[in-house]
Amino acid sequence: MSKTVNIDWNNLGFSYIKTDLRYVSRWKDGQWDEGKLVEDNKLSISEASTALHYGQQCFEGLKAYRTKQGKIQLFRPDRNAKRLNDSCKRILMPEIPEEKFIDACIQVVKANEHYVPPYGTGATLYLRPFVIGVGDNVGVKPASEYIFCIFCLPVGPYFKGGMTPVNFIVSEYDRAAPYGTGAAKVGGNYAGSLYPHELAAEKGFADCIYLDPMTHTKIEEVGAANFFGITKDNQFITPKSPSILPSITKYSLLHIAKEYLKIEVAERDVHINNLDEFKEAGACGTAAVITPIGGIQYKGDLHVFHSETEVGPFTKKLYDTLYGIQFGDVEAPEGWIVEVK
Ligand SMILES: *Cc1c(COP(=O)(O)O)cnc(C)c1O
Repeated sequence: MSKTVNIDWNNLGFSYIKTDLRYVSRWKDGQWDEGKLVEDNKLSISEASTALHYGQQCFEGLKAYRTKQGKIQLFRPDRNAKRLNDSCKRILMPEIPEEKFIDACIQVVKANEHYVPPYGTGATLYLRPFVIGVGDNVGVKPASEYIFCIFCLPVGPYFKGGMTPVNFIVSEYDRAAPYGTGAAKVGGNYAGSLYPHELAAEKGFADCIYLDPMTHTKIEEVGAANFFGITKDNQFITPKSPSILPSITKYSLLHIAKEYLKIEVAERDVHINNLDEFKEAGACGTAAVITPIGGIQYKGDLHVFHSETEVGPFTKKLYDTLYGIQFGDVEAPEGWIVEVK
């Protein structure tokens, strides 16, 4: 199968491209069907679907990477399977067996193999799994039927021409409630973040920083990414809170900082009034890998970390190691890489 596609790999952004096939599986009467690959990128669902009215839906995001040898690999898809199921449990949707999830990811990548960007472009194939409640319902209760889908599209590297720090502003809004759904990757969390994001963008910031919803004194998230900082005595610190979305990139960086960079790591409170403890800071997630944080605007003051224009040495090392593991150039910890064959 050596089909070629007409794509300018070096100028991909993050916008929808319809690829050849997507995976669809349906749940009815207590079980998932086998699932299949389909050409149609439209879903036909009941007007009374809970996903449309009550936000009964969740999603995931992961990437397939082309290695120097031309192989294709997934990065920790078992973690996405687990997190999808944690999200499903929180909003009473049926879970998806891990093997079914990983097998579906592999099917989608193989079926769209010619869309996996070449090694060296920094571009990847982004996979978007999601689960939605469908069927004829009207009351506020779990749906009678569900659809699990995965589609994919090639996406460019987040930073073209090298990593550059960006500034963020602390939002007065919350993305999650103290005992709400912040830790679940459910759509409702993102609808509520659109307006605060727009306010931040209007003021010239890349995105906003959300503080803990209970006290508004501690950093929780950086837009739709997790926060980390490097303290002046070289510790990798990331916030701990039940309303943070547990980023797989963040947990990977915790491991990399400890085992590859050999520095101390901790998950603990990060006070917005004590940013001076950090010499570097960054945001992390699948899309950007790492976004270096130049400065954080809070109550009228911009706190600059390492620099507004240059990436700090620890941030760079973390990025290079993780990126190297994802593209197969750095040896991965056991179980992190799943080859698509
Ligand atoms: C998806 C997401 C992240 C990043 O998670 P990764 O698993 O690293 O991609 C962080 N914060 C929010 C709010 C997210 O939705």
